[in-house]
Amino acid sequence: MKAAAFAYARARSVDDALELLAAHGDGAKVLSGGQSLMPAMNLRLISPELIVDIGGIAELRGVSVQGNTLRIGALTRHADLLRASEIADHAPLLAEAVLHVAHPAIRNRGTLGGSLAHADPASELPACMLVLDAVIVIRSRTGERRMAAADFFRGIFQTALSADELLVAIEIPIGRTNATHFFHEFARRHGDYAIAGLAAQAVIKSGAFTDLRLAFFAVGDRPVLAGAARRLINTVVTPALVLNACAALGEELDPQDDQQASSGMRRHLAKVLMARSIAALLGRPELMGRAA
Ligand SMILES: Cc1cc2nc3c(=O)[nH]c(=O)nc-3n(C[C@H](O)[C@H](O)[C@H](O)COP(=O)(O)OP(=O)(O)OC[C@H]3O[C@@H](n4cnc5c(N)ncnc54)[C@H](O)[C@@H]3O)c2cc1C
Repeated sequence: MKAAAFAYARARSVDDALELLAAHGDGAKVLSGGQSLMPAMNLRLISPELIVDIGGIAELRGVSVQGNTLRIGALTRHADLLRASEIADHAPLLAEAVLHVAHPAIRNRGTLGGSLAHADPASELPACMLVLDAVIVIRSRTGERRMAAADFFRGIFQTALSADELLVAIEIPIGRTNATHFFHEFARRHGDYAIAGLAAQAVIKSGAFTDLRLAFFAVGDRPVLAGAARRLINTVVTPALVLNACAALGEELDPQDDQQASSGMRRHLAKVLMARSIAALLGRPELMGRAA
């Protein structure tokens, strides 16, 4: 199938893009890498009147460190995240997660901003944003606003963005000492969207977690930062405590059934991921126990 007829405008600057979005409201759609938008248009799931192509706006591209903040332009491609030394140094979780996003051809075009704005609940990168405590930078004609990633994702393919707004950058606080990370997903094939996945970051002192952030994806209508992780902080982690935390996680999640997996299977896989992450982060395989 082919997309319905649409008008096309190539924005010359952020201001130019914002003018076009404000003028056309819900009838316009932003085009970044096109890896989600174009398939959706070709399948006629959406039929925008106008495509606003932001692909040529240089100020939206690139990775930099500014003081204690890692700033990533919205147009930074998945493949660029893999190459950037700033990402390897300050957000290695992101580099590891990107390797699970689709395949090289798609990673060469797809962008971080596009992935976050698209808000597929099975996507890897939104979950990483929760773990890394990222701030989403949003601009409209009336100014700029900043929002915690935890507030940005609102449901399946839904975010806090309005039709006249552009996601311009992502800011990640850096400088956490001794942070270590874990990433794993269950998918039918490498590169497929996950059936259940987990991005995690921890700070460990004297064998105990002083901080633990676990963000699950593909087990709800948006990425979920698990409250159950709090049970494992500043305490001696035992196999019984891991089982207890996994049970609490099961209560917290509300996965959906689809052709890939039942709700029960997704909940089970999330518990397995939780136990594996704790064991891996602490370097104590015996903690996986019956949960995994
Ligand atoms: C075969 C295939 C497999 C894939 N597998 C995975 C996978 O395993 N994991 C995964 O996470 N993704 C996967 N993807 C999606 C891919 O990662 C996309 O690149 C990404 O979701 C969207 O990025 P994009 O730059 O291509 O955005 P686009 O397709 O250009 O846009 C996506 C949506 O976001 C909006 N948008 C884009 N940029 C902005 C912005 N700056 N401000 C406001 N709105 C904006 C657009 O209007 C559109 O609604 C897959 C895609 C394909 C085709």
